[in-house]
Amino acid sequence: MKNVYLDHASTTYMTEEVISLVSEIMRMNYGNPSSIHALGRQARAIVEKSRKTVAKILNASVGEIYFTSSATEANNTIIKRSIVDLDVKTFITSPTEHHCILHSLDKVKKEHDVNVVYLSVNENGEISLEELSAMIERYKSLGKIMVTLMHGNNEIGTIHPVDEVSKICVAAGVYFHCDAVQSLGKINIDVQATEYSFLSGSAHKFHGPKGSGFFYMNNENIIQPYIDGGAQERNMRAGTENVYGIAGMSKALMAYVDSREEHCRTITEIRDYFETSLLTTFPDVKINASFATKRLPHISSVSFPTSDKADMIMFNLDINGICASSGSACSAGIEEDSHVLKAIGHPSERKTIRFSFSPRSTIEEVDYVVEVLKKII
Ligand code: PLP
Repeated sequence: MKNVYLDHASTTYMTEEVISLVSEIMRMNYGNPSSIHALGRQARAIVEKSRKTVAKILNASVGEIYFTSSATEANNTIIKRSIVDLDVKTFITSPTEHHCILHSLDKVKKEHDVNVVYLSVNENGEISLEELSAMIERYKSLGKIMVTLMHGNNEIGTIHPVDEVSKICVAAGVYFHCDAVQSLGKINIDVQATEYSFLSGSAHKFHGPKGSGFFYMNNENIIQPYIDGGAQERNMRAGTENVYGIAGMSKALMAYVDSREEHCRTITEIRDYFETSLLTTFPDVKINASFATKRLPHISSVSFPTSDKADMIMFNLDINGICASSGSACSAGIEEDSHVLKAIGHPSERKTIRFSFSPRSTIEEVDYVVEVLKKII
């Protein structure tokens, strides 16, 4: 049986060069970066070299990059500490953010006297900049505001207009936090050209190791640590550093950025080929957010017409060796659209599958998926 992995937005493979580096560090550089002996100093040097690389890619200064265990941790840190340390009173966000943002906001709303307000999104998952400005205007008298918006959506691929959002935030004196997990590597992020207060990323989305993330924090907006303990990460994030994870993350990011044009051309071509094949074969299929002004190159969210067979698509793809993601959540045995699909007004009776591509995805794989779909629908 064939094995076709089209779930790269969920997580993806590590490249050989990253695996080699990570294994080499595991084997040879097992010192604790906080130790002052030679092995510790070697590990410290690896962490600091990695920080330099990530900072360079973002055009940030080295002191503005903080390593974490994941983007989930980074986003929790930023949201939860900004209430205490920056006196944020209102969060403006969108209903299509990742759960690590939305669930953090649900929690802080219960525990603190803060407002959490949601921008509306259209059928492509796009926000309105006019509504953002109006919301800032409406809430500014209540105290400090943080706008937290992702760069590219992980389910439907819609790209938020972060340059314009940043300009609005700067003009209004509002913090801007951007979850850049899905776009990092694929889209150039320059923190000098576009001002962010905070920005987060995760290694396993760009062929780095799982369990390694980071955040950029603009030097002007210092928060206190979310995890207390030792003085690691310049007192910002306690816990012995994941040296090989950090090194693998910086190596993977650098490699992606170095091949960005080629990678993005490849994945866009393959995604477009997939969508054209699907639409030709199944005229009733809908590609969610395909009319968004801008969308990520690697994500295709496909909504299938209702039928008994459509209900079994995920199962049947799986038994045919195809890995993709379901666009639904199951609660109490009843499948429901994800919060993102609900927010864009997707009809819940239609089954949605997210296919996501990498530079290794091939035309043959796509042809196989379409053939299997022909059989199972
Ligand atoms: N934000 C977005 C947009 C994501 O897609 C993900 C992971 O799927 C995360 C945050 C969480 O990242 P991590 O797996 O590093 O916790």
